[in-house]
Amino acid sequence: MFKALVVEKDEDGKTHASVQELGEDRLPEGDVTVDVEYSTLNYKDGLCIGPGGGLVRTYPHVPGIDFAGTVSASDDPRFAPGDKVVLTGWRVGEAWWGGYAQKARVKADWLVPLPEGLGTRQAMAVGTAGFTAMLAVMALEAQGLKPGQGPVLVTGASGGVGSVATAILSRLGYEVAAVTGRPENEAYLTGLGATRMVPRADLAETVKRPLEAETWAGCVDAVGGAMLARVLGQMKYGASVAAVGLAGGAQLPATVVPFLLRGVNLLGIDSVMRPYDDRVAAWQRITTDLPLDKLEAMVEPATLADLPELGAGILNGSVKGRVVVDVN
Ligand code: NDP
Repeated sequence: MFKALVVEKDEDGKTHASVQELGEDRLPEGDVTVDVEYSTLNYKDGLCIGPGGGLVRTYPHVPGIDFAGTVSASDDPRFAPGDKVVLTGWRVGEAWWGGYAQKARVKADWLVPLPEGLGTRQAMAVGTAGFTAMLAVMALEAQGLKPGQGPVLVTGASGGVGSVATAILSRLGYEVAAVTGRPENEAYLTGLGATRMVPRADLAETVKRPLEAETWAGCVDAVGGAMLARVLGQMKYGASVAAVGLAGGAQLPATVVPFLLRGVNLLGIDSVMRPYDDRVAAWQRITTDLPLDKLEAMVEPATLADLPELGAGILNGSVKGRVVVDVN
């Protein structure tokens, strides 16, 4: 038997999440079975623990889009019992049962060996949010971003993506400007390495002038919507924005002028279907470029039983940093 957070749907279409004991025969098909040690909480998990958001296909469902643990059985030559592994994305926890359980069974193709120097708890302090922040920084670098070119903006800075992006950029020597709607998080954000606070309200209004002062050398954007549209008009000549999230909305009420007159680049960042080699490279960069003491400062510990409340919290924007779920 193993413990899992199970989401069930009643006849009225309402969902309920509770911790239950399940037999191993309930595990889905797959070629590797993992004893999960830690999972985490992302915005998508909030949707999958609660109303589903169109992501969950069938109920009962075990959410958890990320997990890290130890292989207990494998039919695939790439993995053997005892191997430490991490999983993010591939629609695990949405279309497939995920990491909010003491056991998970998945396809070998979806797993990445845990890099040297990172434990399973640290890997889940990173999680999809941090992994995606790393991908965003790598995409900006690939477009030529280097320290010394000017401040790099991070939107949704107190969230998971924003917190990790702030810590990585600061470690790499960038001047980081953090956009937050929660001024009470200033000490937290400066602790992660931000040197400048930008109130969310300053970027909340929709675009009135397509071009504003050239201010930012790069941007990791977790917010989207009107804020992303404003930021595009404030980028320096030839600078890039890595578009990661939609915490502020999916619409983009922008003009094409920043692309045409300033050569601004809008880079799309997807973590879910990311090819294996990119995943290995990003996890490797995380071990060198994310200071582990700053990672620890982001961690809010939790258990499976805390998840229904935390899931609602991440949907209303009240969660800070990275929740790490000890499933045991
Ligand atoms: P969090 O909820 O942890 O962080 C989002 C942050 O955005 C909040 O903490 C808040 O920061 C800010 N925010 C929330 N609501 C609003 C609003 N209405 N307007 C402006 N700012 C707002 O989520 P994550 O960091 O885990 O994820 C961020 C986004 O990235 C989500 O949309 C998520 O779906 C997406 N994502 C995409 C991935 C991909 O592969 N592309 C992978 C991972 C996440 P503050 O209080 O500091 O302002």
